[in-house]
Amino acid sequence: MFSYIFMKILESRPSRYDRGINILTLGHAKRVKKEIVDKYVRAGMKILDIGCGTGELMEYAARKGAYVTGIDISEGMLCIAQKRFEDVELCDKAEFNHAGITDLDRLFEDRRFDLVTSTLVFSELYPDERQWAYTEINRVLKDSGTLVLAGEVKPQGFFKRLIHFLIRLPLAAATYLIAQTGTRAVSDMTEEISLSGFEVQGEQRTLLDSFSVVWARKKSNAGTAEPSTISAFSSKRDWSIAKTFWDYIGRWFPSPVEPGLRQIGAPDKNAPVFITCNFHLTVRRVEKALSGIDAWLLVAPTNGINVWCAACGGELTTQSVSGAVKITRIANKVSHRRLVLPQFSAPGIDIRQLKQETGFNSVFGPAYAKDIPKFLKMNGEKTSDMCLAKYPLSFRLEMLLSMNALIWAFIAAFCLMINPGSLFVFSLLFWGAGIVLYAGYPWIPGNSGWLKGLGLSILIIVGTGTGTILSGHGDWHNHWGWMLASVIICFWLGFDLRGIVEGSASEATGLLEKLGIHSIGKFYSSRSKTKGILKHDTVLCTGCRTCMGVCPKGVFDLDKREKRVFAARPEACFTCGACGYQCPEHALKIS
Ligand code: SF4
Ligand code: SF4
Repeated sequence: MFSYIFMKILESRPSRYDRGINILTLGHAKRVKKEIVDKYVRAGMKILDIGCGTGELMEYAARKGAYVTGIDISEGMLCIAQKRFEDVELCDKAEFNHAGITDLDRLFEDRRFDLVTSTLVFSELYPDERQWAYTEINRVLKDSGTLVLAGEVKPQGFFKRLIHFLIRLPLAAATYLIAQTGTRAVSDMTEEISLSGFEVQGEQRTLLDSFSVVWARKKSNAGTAEPSTISAFSSKRDWSIAKTFWDYIGRWFPSPVEPGLRQIGAPDKNAPVFITCNFHLTVRRVEKALSGIDAWLLVAPTNGINVWCAACGGELTTQSVSGAVKITRIANKVSHRRLVLPQFSAPGIDIRQLKQETGFNSVFGPAYAKDIPKFLKMNGEKTSDMCLAKYPLSFRLEMLLSMNALIWAFIAAFCLMINPGSLFVFSLLFWGAGIVLYAGYPWIPGNSGWLKGLGLSILIIVGTGTGTILSGHGDWHNHWGWMLASVIICFWLGFDLRGIVEGSASEATGLLEKLGIHSIGKFYSSRSKTKGILKHDTVLCTGCRTCMGVCPKGVFDLDKREKRVFAARPEACFTCGACGYQCPEHALKIS
């Protein structure tokens, strides 16, 4: 009954989605789609299904003679939907668009559809996104057209809410662990809809009041809906000790805040607009860097993942930023058309396409938020130092804690259960080896995290053996268990060490690639880690210096005499792809 949460897991496996969701809902999802079609669809109608998934509802509607248009952000789901229509030979009745809610404005003209439907989608959207969607649905519906929404809502009444919360909590936690995402039950869908230019005609609640189907008619005098005003958040909104604590120990998992527009100080029409991701720690750090500056901060939805990982993993994209620009209507709040993007978003955002979609020009700001005040003082210019990714001791120790605390806690709990006396030695070994490897990384010889870990484990074994023999406390091999444990711990700590503290492709990346694993949920993606050598085509290059402003490794330099850009340190390149993606002349390629 609370399967909307598990739906997030099924979405990553489109081929099993229909079967899985119907098993989980005991056939409820299928029934609801059939009922919607039975009640509201007539032959000849033009229907838009938002978040059409595998096209189940679309097929029922097409069989009744309707013309159906589906949009979905999952290419996998759309492929299955298209195949479904080919199998039943109804392709002439269907149109599919790989698109999300924020694309409605560019895809469809006013008053095109008789009916708009959406099932199990609105509870995945943030409030600002829903508000944008209602406005757009209102626009694309014909006068007196019908909207039917089905999705997860918060039950009414204290006891139903309590039961809903108690059942939902462990399921939501499990889904967060497996799929690193979740859904947000809508508080009052009927009120939202009726405040958005619709006349609600009825609501049907099932599953302990947690599933709602609402049907509403576009008000005949609604005309084409005008965009409503989105209010900006205060920067205090996300202050939370629990979230901050989780930022430091739970970096394996996304920590999202609500995307949207934030007001820093008292920004006016000329105030700069900064973009960031919706990872809690990043938002807090950017807000801190901006304190004392009047600015707009536009937080794009990236599923709670930091800027660099989100840009490389396809979460911080041209579409997510253009969607945030549209939804927040920032264009109404400023008179200029300039966005400051985080430099580490360069592998994921095409600034030329962003300009086409939003009308805003973009520049890449400094690599770190703490340099934003300096960047503003320099009128939007950066020194080469402000472009570099840095991995100082404080950063390496922070990563040691955030990447390993949960693993340590898990094994520590196991130690407590089987042999409480082993906890101290295990912790000493774990954190001691961790501090040596993470803090001493630049000075430990070699280039491989594995080999550095292996070297340290040999030192531990030799040290333990020698100490035992010299102290006369038994045979050295009595400690074989701890020696083996030190090898395993050092192997674990060194496994992705290079990737974590240096930003380079690590042995873990290579191993996963060899195994054909290109992503693991939202933990890992190899999308941008193209192997190869950077090639600079000096004939195509115009010397615009864009590559210098986005390279986090300082690979490029300016030949002042010849006034040209050249790859001065190609050996430092770790093929993040940022320069090639941003080069306007396509003069940079990974060969
Ligand atoms: S971005 Fe491209 S065109 Fe511009 S300086 Fe670099 S290589 Fe040359
Ligand atoms: S030169 Fe290499 S490291 Fe620098 S931006 Fe280009 S691909 Fe990334």
